[in-house]
Amino acid sequence: MRVLATVLIWVMGAALGLASPVAAQSRLVQGGAQIVATDAGGVTVRFAISQAVPFSVHTRVNPMQVILDTQQVDWSGLQANMLTGAPYFTDLRVGRMRSGWSRLVLTLAAPMAIDQAGLQQSDTGAQLMLKLVPTTADHFAALAHAPDDPRFTLAPPVLARAAAIDKDALHVVLDPGHGGIDPGATRGSITEADLMLSLARQVQEALLREGIEVTLTRAEDDFIPLPQRVAIAHDLGADLFISLHADTVEQGQVSGASVYTLAQQASDTASARLAAEHDRDALLAGVDLQGQKDDVARVLMDLARLDTQPRSESLATHMVGALAARVPILATQPHRQADFSVLRSADIPSVLIEAGFLSSQADLTNLQDPQWRAGFTAAIVEGITVWADEDALLAPLRRK
Ligand SMILES: [Zn+2]
Repeated sequence: MRVLATVLIWVMGAALGLASPVAAQSRLVQGGAQIVATDAGGVTVRFAISQAVPFSVHTRVNPMQVILDTQQVDWSGLQANMLTGAPYFTDLRVGRMRSGWSRLVLTLAAPMAIDQAGLQQSDTGAQLMLKLVPTTADHFAALAHAPDDPRFTLAPPVLARAAAIDKDALHVVLDPGHGGIDPGATRGSITEADLMLSLARQVQEALLREGIEVTLTRAEDDFIPLPQRVAIAHDLGADLFISLHADTVEQGQVSGASVYTLAQQASDTASARLAAEHDRDALLAGVDLQGQKDDVARVLMDLARLDTQPRSESLATHMVGALAARVPILATQPHRQADFSVLRSADIPSVLIEAGFLSSQADLTNLQDPQWRAGFTAAIVEGITVWADEDALLAPLRRK
């Protein structure tokens, strides 16, 4: 199925320096850059890229520039002379940013504001679009100082609930996998993204009835980048992070539910990766890592992880037990370990549950069956509550 969607993503402008090269996953399609004049002196810039990527766009003054940050795009096919004859820009630069981000900088000949920015996915790749409109120098300067322009904020609407959260209640962040331009696994007209959203809503209802606070990383069919899903849990000071998936597996007749925790090997490098990739204030709740060097941030996260990893393992154990009593689970090793990036949080116990596999006819049927869904939901509630009781008892033993 052809998926068309427009996403607007704002990634707050962290201070990004130069770093080692990374393999680009997306690239500018040959001849894929376009500058088109619009009515009223504006201009639309389009870039055809080989696959969709998260991006952010902002402006800055002295000189007046539009900055497009994208995840892992190889811009090497872009020629500075594409600007020849275009009166809007005086310079075009591209560079590789740290940890897989690329930056494209357009220097403006006159003040222009970002009117629209979007990404449209197609069968052959994706198109990044920026529409700029003329503005005054004063207005431009004002916008440049307000990087969190709400037009470019992809804050999930569920975050509005944060103000009402009871500090004593257990707070679970449920993360329905995929969404928006990323449907996840598909089977006919059924997508993993839709199934997981409806399942997450059902689990949310059941948890709320138990007095447990629940926030969904997405309440709609939205594309949320993986790091942002973890950041939502951090912003809310969540106690638990649970990602829900129903992916496809190639081999054999694999079916049943399984629970993943971060692989030990992956957890060894996760802190280093997080330190290099993320805004510092999103890494550890209550610890000010602003201004810390990567290695200091990494050590602090490793310490937190020593406490968190066993708590994640314990949650997975309880979850597998509760699931096994109610729904079919994976025949071998229902508790698995993998390097899923949503599991890399240093201080929030995190698991990823494969509710089943869309590649299995039995699982596909179960995932849509009210009786199976009721059993799955009850299992998640039991897994969380049993874990939380045990975890509270162990809390005094943990380092502060
Ligand atoms: Zn998935």
